[in-house]
Amino acid sequence: MDYLEIIRTTTHYLLHFVAPFVVAYYFFNKNWKWAGVIMTSTILIDLDHLLASPIFDPSRCSIGFHPLHTIWALIVYILFLLIPSWKWRAVGLGLIIHFATDAIDCVMMSLW
Ligand SMILES: [Zn+2]
Repeated sequence: MDYLEIIRTTTHYLLHFVAPFVVAYYFFNKNWKWAGVIMTSTILIDLDHLLASPIFDPSRCSIGFHPLHTIWALIVYILFLLIPSWKWRAVGLGLIIHFATDAIDCVMMSLW
């Protein structure tokens, strides 16, 4: 593993597990801790990788490949923001951050 791979992997997991809490802190006031937990839990959409073969391939771009990582899924995630409940908004925002995180990974992958 060269150092660019290490930067890419570190960025990816920081965005998956730390960024949701930072965003939650700014947008969810007193509910920020639970909002952070909900947003981090959106990693569960990666269960769609189980439908692929191989299940995990570090050189594959998730976006547009796995069913819950398509543009149609993203549209649904954005619609979650319209539900008047902070919990659903946390789900939507978490999913959008997850999507962006995976997209950034794809960009980094193509650069290196
Ligand atoms: Zn993903």
